[in-house]
Amino acid sequence: MPTHINWTDETRNYIRGCDHVSPGCDNCYIDGTLPFRFNDWHFDASGHIDLDLRPEVIEMLHRGTRGKKVFMNSLGDTFHRDVPFDLTLRAFQRYGELDDRVFQILTKREHEMARLAPRLPWSPNIWMGCTVENQSYTFRARYLRQVDVPVRWLSVEPLLGPIPRLDLEGISWVVLGGETAKLTIKARYTDPDWMREIIAQCRAAGVAVWVKQMGFAWAVRNGFKRHEHEHIEIFPADLQIREFPQ
Ligand code: SF4
Repeated sequence: MPTHINWTDETRNYIRGCDHVSPGCDNCYIDGTLPFRFNDWHFDASGHIDLDLRPEVIEMLHRGTRGKKVFMNSLGDTFHRDVPFDLTLRAFQRYGELDDRVFQILTKREHEMARLAPRLPWSPNIWMGCTVENQSYTFRARYLRQVDVPVRWLSVEPLLGPIPRLDLEGISWVVLGGETAKLTIKARYTDPDWMREIIAQCRAAGVAVWVKQMGFAWAVRNGFKRHEHEHIEIFPADLQIREFPQ
């Protein structure tokens, strides 16, 4: 499925649904997307939506993805505890079979990722990432370093506070972004200086940077429409950076 996520080419979801796990989930976008609205699936008061598992998506992964970057499970989390291991294993086997694609995975469930990692076939075309939304969640990078893939990456989105100490050892790529929300007023503000501080750490460590978007609150505060938050031409000039890992 084509996507507006500007650091990938396609998304595929064999998991739809999730549970909130950390502050970066507070305005999770998934229940505003078409399949959720169509099915009237919404997060309940505890931040839960039942999982809808679609194994057939794994078998169809070859369709329309040749030579592309594919973000897996943009509408869920690959390492959600309710996903049967056999399903995860089959997905990872398919990634290895389709070695002319890149499969990008992102999790906020670093413990489960590290627990299952020794039982999974990690092909070199898997880019494995963890979300780090503020200084308190930088520990996720430690778990990520336990995974043996050429590209480990951090999604620092939504960036919810300064991160002056980010250990980038073993990390190849950092994606930065503000927050989006169904109601603009609920989107928390990302200070561009927080991004600059992280970019400086990336530069010192030789890590590629991708500034995905500035967030609704920054866009509106600076006189732009909220949908323009990801238009790179409105970013401060020094934040107009979009690099892929080497
Ligand atoms: S882990 Fe991701 S998909 Fe799941 S609730 Fe949090 S932001 Fe949403």
